[in-house]
Parts: sequence; structure tokens; C-alpha cells
Amino acid sequence: MQPDLTENILELIRRTSTSLPADVEDQLHAAIKKETPGSAAHGALETILKNIELARAQSTPICQDTGTPIFYVYYPSGWSTLKLKSQIRSALAQATQKSYMRPNAVDAVYDKNSGNNLGGDDFPSIHFEEVEGDQLTIELMLKGGGCENVGAQYSLPDNRLGAGRDLGGVRKVVLDAVQRAQGQGCAPGILGVAIGGDRGSSYYKSKEVLFEKIGTRNSDPKLAELEERLTSEANTLGIGPMGFGGQTTVIDTKIAGMHRLPASFFVSVSYICWAYRRRKMTVNGTDVQYD
Ligand code: SF4
Repeated sequence: MQPDLTENILELIRRTSTSLPADVEDQLHAAIKKETPGSAAHGALETILKNIELARAQSTPICQDTGTPIFYVYYPSGWSTLKLKSQIRSALAQATQKSYMRPNAVDAVYDKNSGNNLGGDDFPSIHFEEVEGDQLTIELMLKGGGCENVGAQYSLPDNRLGAGRDLGGVRKVVLDAVQRAQGQGCAPGILGVAIGGDRGSSYYKSKEVLFEKIGTRNSDPKLAELEERLTSEANTLGIGPMGFGGQTTVIDTKIAGMHRLPASFFVSVSYICWAYRRRKMTVNGTDVQYD
């Protein structure tokens, strides 16, 4: 029988909101070493790192904006997605009550906050995919509003930027997105880039790719090279932590290549802030693990 995972999902939400993954925190520690002590960039990173520690110790949200909850559920054959959805929604409402999450779901037409992070059928965002094997995996990302606002989508060719329908054009538009964002997406952050698809699938993929750990490279050498190049070029723009100037604007870049229609060439850029809250839970029989 399918277990009730509400309590486990609540714990997944608590961990995601209050404890930044180690690979992200390590990069922030590396970033502060590159900044001049006493500079605004150094100060911003100091505050960020202190905040991360406090949030973990006190089980409080890392940032006052607890973000859009985005769940990706990979379920074995035979599991009911209706039950999983209801357990996720119930866990999220409880997490809001316990203040692991700020009430963030606002009806865009009536400007009314639902108060429990549940809004219609669309909030939270839950993606289901059936997989081989017996393991259930739930991945959760809490994506801040500030960094979501600076996401961008380009349709190539883009004559304004001189960006054609090739990887050179992709490079130009991604750097344009970083330049336009300045510090508004709460740098330093991570770039999720999708090349191809339609407008919807391309944006979707640009977020999905953000679940990859920092430092993992695309298996396609062309894209792996572009990932490294974009990170290092973005860091020459001088935007720096929280836009105060400095060495680190982007911690890592993840790229996904997709198929496209002959008539379209979309590049979607999802930017996620330093509060890169993503965690995973796996269920094998009665064994539940969190990562
Ligand atoms: S963009 Fe990120 S760090 Fe900035 S306010 Fe939103 S959640 Fe917090």
C-alpha cells in the first residue's frame, strides 16, 4: 500500500527552507575569500554566511521570501499521483503554519493572499514523472521572487544584440540577461539555461536543470565548455554580491539542450539567487533519506 508521506514531505520543506545545501554554502565561502576585506561585497557575503548559519541553527527560513515551491516528483509505477499531490499540499499548509514558509500564494486577480501557500490547482507547482524501478524521489526548489523577476527569454536571432541562432548567440543573450539583472536577483547566483523547446518547455527546462549539483558539467562537451565560459565571463562584469561590485556574480551555470521547431530558437534563462534552496527526498520501502 502507498504510504502517507505528509510528515516526511513536511521535513523536506523544513530542510529546504532553513538549511542551504553544502555545495552552495561551500561556494559562498570560496567567494568571500576573493573579495577585499572591508569592501561592500565582502560585507554582503559575511552577512549572507552568518544568516545561513543562524537559519540552520534555529530552523528558521534562510530568507524572508521563502519563494515559489516547485516540486518534481519521480514516482514508480502504481503510485497514485492524486494522493501524492494531496500529501504535498497538506505538508505545505502545515509548513506555513509552523513558519517554515511565509504565506506566498497571492490571487493575481483579486490580490488576496490565501494564507497557506495553496492557490487553486497551480500553487505549489508540482511536476510528476513516472520512472522505472521502486524508488520514489521528490525534489523541491524554493525559488525566490527577486531572482524569478530577472529571468529572461530570448527568441533568436536577436538583432539588437547581434545574436544569431548558434552557441555564440546563446552566449550573448545569457550575458545580456546577467547584465540586465545587475544585483536585483540577489547575486551571487546560478544560471539555468535552456536552448530550444517552445516558450513553455524551455522555461520549464531552465529551472529543472538547476537541480544539478554545483560543478557538475553537461555531458555534451560543447555545452560543458559554454557552461564554464559563461560563469567566468559573467564574473568579469563587476556586478558582484548583491550588486555591490566584486568578483563573484555567478557561482555556476547549467545548460540544457533541447529540440526546437525549425521556425523557433528560444533561449530561456532562469536565475536563482544565493539562497539556492533545493533538496531531495528518496523513499525505498520504509526507508526515507534526505539530501
Ligand atoms: S531573490 Fe533570493 S535572496 Fe533575494 S529576497 Fe528573494 S529569495 Fe531572498
